Amino acid sequence: MSKDSERPHFAVFGQPIAHSLSPRIHAQFAADCGIDMRYVALETTPEKFSADLERFRAEGGSGANVTLPLKEQAARLCQELSPSARLSGAVNTLVRLDHGWFGDNTDGLGLCRDLRDNLGIDLVGKRVLLLGAGGAARGIVPTLFEEGVAELVVANRSPERAIALSYDLAACGPIDACALETLADAGRFSVLINATSAARHGVALTLPANLPAPGAVAYDLSYGDSARPFLNWAAAHDIDHRSDGLGMLVEQAAVSFLRWHHVSPDTALILARLRADQTGAVPR
Ligand code: NAP
Repeated sequence: MSKDSERPHFAVFGQPIAHSLSPRIHAQFAADCGIDMRYVALETTPEKFSADLERFRAEGGSGANVTLPLKEQAARLCQELSPSARLSGAVNTLVRLDHGWFGDNTDGLGLCRDLRDNLGIDLVGKRVLLLGAGGAARGIVPTLFEEGVAELVVANRSPERAIALSYDLAACGPIDACALETLADAGRFSVLINATSAARHGVALTLPANLPAPGAVAYDLSYGDSARPFLNWAAAHDIDHRSDGLGMLVEQAAVSFLRWHHVSPDTALILARLRADQTGAVPR
């Protein structure tokens, strides 16, 4: 194995970042694919992010992931953007260029791969409710429409952010915007996606009972304790198909890995191991 300083160097930037699963996921992908690299978690603030990213680059950083609350700032720091990053204005994957950074957003592909390939959920023709209008919500909207979603309603605590999202991403497909308080008038949905960080702040969303259509699916982008309030609400409202965002986390990481190393890693084993850690079960 080469010296640590000579190995291709990757990182995830965020705040907080100490409990990020990304270093473990990328280490597993690299081991499975026979790729020698290092991947570390770097805590930074919005005020320090630009300088920290510049230092990472000067030290030879080849690529990085970006998470809460830095995705929209990351998009502004890139010299080139993928179509999904440009549309969403949010970047979670940075690839080193000779003259700066190429920014991509793999959240949408990660979510849709998890829904389709891991959970067997078909989005074609579906009416979808998206709770939240932050960086993650913006990142997933273009891919939801590419997957065949017929209509999307975005509801947010700050309605002006939902309205801005619906204008900015209008070219992707039909999007309506509303406040969380007026959701009772929004009709029924086949797929309900929670892309808020409310539970991370100890807040359970107050949602009307009339949202789910028969056979609806509920998906929370969060995982662990943060996914519980929304998934418990879904269970209490007879939604049988429920999932947290652990599969999305692994799948979006796999797309980042592909962008950096040009190899698609297997996601099943690491997802089973992370699930086993959550439940205390023995991994297969
Ligand atoms: P963000 O840009 O900070 O946006 C946060 C969103 O949550 C905003 O819409 C905000 O509403 C809403 N919110 C925050 N506190 C709330 C409260 N008390 N009540 C109602 N709404 C509230 O964050 P983000 O990057 O979009 O991430 C959102 C969540 O998705 C996080 O929990 C993150 O961990 C998760 N995520 C998971 C994955 C994955 O791979 N599984 C990937 C990306 C993100 P306002 O606009 O009114 O502030």
